[in-house]
Amino acid sequence: MTTTPTGTEPRKAALDVAPTPLALLLLGREADPRSERGVECPGDLPSPSDPDLVERARTAKAKLGDRVFVLGHHYQRDEVIQFADVTGDSFKLARDAAARPEAEYIVFCGVHFMAESADILTSDDQKVVLPDLAAGCSMADMATAEQVAECWDVLTEAGIAGQVVPVSYMNSSADIKAFTGRHGGTICTSSNAQRALEWAFEQGEKVLFLPDQHLGRNTAVRDLGMSLDDCVVYNPHKPNGGLTAEQLRSAKMILWRGHCSVHGRFSLDSVEDVRNRIPGVNVLVHPECKHEVVAAADYVGSTEYIIKTLDAAPAGSKWAIGTELNLVRRVANAHPDKEVVFLDRTVCFCSTMNRIDLPHLVWTLESLAEGTLVNRIRVDEETEHYAKLALERMLALP
Ligand code: SF4
Repeated sequence: MTTTPTGTEPRKAALDVAPTPLALLLLGREADPRSERGVECPGDLPSPSDPDLVERARTAKAKLGDRVFVLGHHYQRDEVIQFADVTGDSFKLARDAAARPEAEYIVFCGVHFMAESADILTSDDQKVVLPDLAAGCSMADMATAEQVAECWDVLTEAGIAGQVVPVSYMNSSADIKAFTGRHGGTICTSSNAQRALEWAFEQGEKVLFLPDQHLGRNTAVRDLGMSLDDCVVYNPHKPNGGLTAEQLRSAKMILWRGHCSVHGRFSLDSVEDVRNRIPGVNVLVHPECKHEVVAAADYVGSTEYIIKTLDAAPAGSKWAIGTELNLVRRVANAHPDKEVVFLDRTVCFCSTMNRIDLPHLVWTLESLAEGTLVNRIRVDEETEHYAKLALERMLALP
């Protein structure tokens, strides 16, 4: 977790934007309430205006003691992150949870696929809880088990399934991770995508990269030296993915047509605009951004890389960061000696991540403290077995 140096008055983050309720509108899900999972919160959700929320969360957490371990993803709100025992990206958090077997309850302040991964990696005795079941991920939802099975049929008909190794980004459902495990593939994170792809090309001739086309393309082109022509995009909403058998046969990278609703918002214009506004600015973006944005940036890397880069940057340096706004605000506050701005003028929270707010956390902790298990996330045994296989292949990557 980034912290403000003691004894230093934090400079107000040099962001051009202020959070507004509008930023919490659903991204990537349009306005269809049926696309949301479990929006209803059983029980009495405390009012957001309750002045005792912080105290209530503290009391309930203290009552649970070592029985509860609260995980906070980097993109979470400050009001929630203050109660996290540990912060990090999704994979680090899942591993942290597995390293705390004495914790009966793992409260995952993140999104659904992250809680699934934590359930896969923790013991059967540990119960993983997601404070709001509606906290999904638009990217993970862009690849369903049925669509991916259909894609595999298309690859089989094109006569190439035997040459294809699936590589799935951590940001995918347990079903997709299990598919990957079943077909000899591996999971990757934004930190180890290059190693995962290198491994996959030692096992086969082609890679099916799920579900984030941008991370797949950026890694193949930037890190493995492929050309854009080596990549094709499989669109699950078109017959045969919108590709001919010949296109599939000549491609090296078959990219699933998925993207992150947050990082997908940054454009080449954002980069050019910030360079004009702030001479000498360093542009630092996440590899989930579009290829043209990544190509125009000075630095590219995972959330952890972004934090470390800012920690190591000299005082007085200027940075425009292309990732989720909660993280950029915290990084800016932790570095009052540097100028840190958000890459785009439009506020860009991860709306689903932001569903986990203080009222939901209080409700969760109080329910657990009273002995009521709520919002448990469980992955069935068979899915867990194959998803774990894919995760273990990632852990064994050189
Ligand atoms: S930032 Fe993007 S990839 Fe991450 S949880 Fe939100 S929608 Fe999903």
